[in-house]
Amino acid sequence: MVSREVQAHDTVVRFGNASVGGDKFAVIAGPCSVESEAQLLSVAEVVKQHGAVALRGGAYKPRTSPYDFQGMGVEGLKLLKLASEQLNIPTVSEVMEVGQMKDMCEYVDCLQIGARNMQNYALLKAVGENKKPVLLKRGLSATIEELLLAAEYIYDAGNPNIILCERGIRTYETATRNTLDLNAVAYLKQRTHLPVVVDPSHGTGVRELVIPLSRAAAAVGADGIIVESHLNPCEALSDGHQALTGPMFEQLMQELKPFVEAA
Ligand code: PEP
Ligand code: MN
Repeated sequence: MVSREVQAHDTVVRFGNASVGGDKFAVIAGPCSVESEAQLLSVAEVVKQHGAVALRGGAYKPRTSPYDFQGMGVEGLKLLKLASEQLNIPTVSEVMEVGQMKDMCEYVDCLQIGARNMQNYALLKAVGENKKPVLLKRGLSATIEELLLAAEYIYDAGNPNIILCERGIRTYETATRNTLDLNAVAYLKQRTHLPVVVDPSHGTGVRELVIPLSRAAAAVGADGIIVESHLNPCEALSDGHQALTGPMFEQLMQELKPFVEAA
């Protein structure tokens, strides 16, 4: 049902004043993790000012090490709501388990399913039974077919508001954090009517590579990008090395202008 064969026209996913899919190239931006009110509001203001349509920020963080920062939890969700109301920008945040759904739905506009949970079927069904838009990330070693079938779980449970996200896959290459599979974007755009966005932050893991790969995402036909940004990345509690600084985010938006404004 996510197939182009059953629906030829592009699905446009709307939340708050943002829309992803169709003619527009959407930029979703914000920190990897919500860390404090000052951190979130300051970066939110910068990304909004330069044209981001939605604010990202994790409150529940799936960290490789249990000793690393695990996120602010519901306090982080409340800060997302605060930023959203103050700056009139909708939010995207990761839900890691079914038990978080109630709070997530209360405070956040679009629910992210992280790469590590792409095949958490209980979670897919739970977000499917809800009408909130879902940003579904491709699993670390998932095939495109597996991504589409994960989306099918959400669609089949009753929620057609799905954004697919290519965020890099694990390969033998170690120079970058992941290998951003732009083939997947071109392929998905032909196979499915769902919008497809690219995450060049996790896709590369290297701040300096985020702008070039964002241009590549736009060129290959993605419907948008989701990028990490932090005003003081050296002090970030997660993924600082791949976060765009404020000036870099401004430069990114400058370079994407032909795509963002073609809308
Ligand atoms: C994130 O968006 O911060 C994140 C953890 O992403 P992924 O699930 O793609 O690793
Ligand atoms: Mn991150």
